[in-house]
Amino acid sequence: MELNSVKIHQNYEKILENVKKYSPYPEKVKILFVSKYLNVEEHKAVIDMGYDYFGENRAQLYRDKLNEFSDEKYKNIKWDFIGRLQKNKIKYIINSVNLVHSIDSYQLLEEINKKAIENNKTISGLIQINVSREESKTGVYIEDFKKDSEKYFSMSNVKIAGFMTMAPFDASEYEIDNYFSKMRELKEEYEKKYDYITELSMGMSNDYIEALKNGATIIRIGSKLFE
Ligand SMILES: *Cc1c(COP(=O)(O)O)cnc(C)c1O
Repeated sequence: MELNSVKIHQNYEKILENVKKYSPYPEKVKILFVSKYLNVEEHKAVIDMGYDYFGENRAQLYRDKLNEFSDEKYKNIKWDFIGRLQKNKIKYIINSVNLVHSIDSYQLLEEINKKAIENNKTISGLIQINVSREESKTGVYIEDFKKDSEKYFSMSNVKIAGFMTMAPFDASEYEIDNYFSKMRELKEEYEKKYDYITELSMGMSNDYIEALKNGATIIRIGSKLFE
């Protein structure tokens, strides 16, 4: 990929402006730089531009990449995991991940907890919600989550910091707004019960403005930064 630092900065600034314009609480919003499109060399160039908060979506690539960032210079970089996570690959991320956005089933949560105990770690995670109930998407249905939500909060070594979702690619603006507002209600309901619930991860390049309007605290942006 041809990286143009001037353009990346401009795109990032534009997104920051929109955070201020559309979010009810811009000071709480983080822009997660989705770095899955970058190879190691490109990624290092982006870090040299000053970015330090990244999201990767493939566990094996995450591990391989992080091996290249062991230098002292990279110790303050934060790495989130945003992709589908298979149980046998939890080990690739468990020792370095800042936040797992994609805990898409109770079984996966239990498995992450198990690995966290084995590695003497406490992991922060988000429950991925399938808000549109699309068959092709993973995630927990809101109704199922509410039915026995206590069990999600009972893990010794995984702290649930909030929720994540992805809107369908072909949804209208109206539908997207409807899905994101359901997520906002969900967060508002549970943050009253659990004061450590602070995050709502939603919004990508094409729908982050609707997400901001609905109170997203983490927007996950990839392609828009490279336009
Ligand atoms: C790739 C990806 C993104 C970023 O998508 P863009 O449309 O490139 O901004 C966000 N979230 C997840 C889970 C992704 O896999």
